Amino acid sequence: MTAAAPRWIELPVRAGRFALDAVLPQRCLSCDRRVAPEGGLCAQCWQEIRFFEKPWCYRLGTPFSYDVGEEAWSPQAIASPPVFGRLRSVAPYEGPARDLVHALKFHGRRNLARPMGSWMARQGSEFLGPDSLIVPVPLHWLRLLSRRFNQSADLARAIAEECGGHYEPALLKRRKRTRQQVGLSAEARRKNVRAAFGLDEARPGDVRERKVVLVDDVVTTGSTVAACSRVLLNAGAASVDVLAFAYARPSDG
Ligand SMILES: [Zn+2]
Repeated sequence: MTAAAPRWIELPVRAGRFALDAVLPQRCLSCDRRVAPEGGLCAQCWQEIRFFEKPWCYRLGTPFSYDVGEEAWSPQAIASPPVFGRLRSVAPYEGPARDLVHALKFHGRRNLARPMGSWMARQGSEFLGPDSLIVPVPLHWLRLLSRRFNQSADLARAIAEECGGHYEPALLKRRKRTRQQVGLSAEARRKNVRAAFGLDEARPGDVRERKVVLVDDVVTTGSTVAACSRVLLNAGAASVDVLAFAYARPSDG
């Protein structure tokens, strides 16, 4: 790991551990060690995250062990080229990176969206800009009702704040309530999400000629972001790139 610990891990430590401990013990989100700064990971878990770094696949952002050129594609991207332009993610879906995703999504730790979004913005710097339309993968309203927030929307908002892009949480709609993707085969996932997404009918022209950045917390087989990308491209988007916090590559399984 070559990246230096970012501000959000350093600041609370510097702010004085004694003060935090005196009020409420802070726990690492991953290992529950008591020395963790507020809202984050302990230094040891931080070290365990295998951040994706260049050189990487131009299409999927997965690292290469040696440099084969800026626009080289991985065998996976060559074998099945994605519908979207580029995918960039922060780390594989494992260990402390997975714990961060779970803490945000299932335990309501919404304060994590900002630091996680900040890492995502850094990974997506090739395609993010003030003219980007930042669109989260939507939740069905029934799921939104039970979870109370869309973790991908929180991440998208944080990314838009970082890059000055335009945050668009309501443009893409989830029409069909799909089953959870976890545990489904690649083919079952594709069937599950087919026709699940559509655009806000009142604003069909809003994506025309726009550079869209689609945001999700985790990309697994890519069937969800592919389905969303198709909708956006069919509506005339100039490009669709995908930004995720974690990527569960088939090769990691
Ligand atoms: Zn830890």
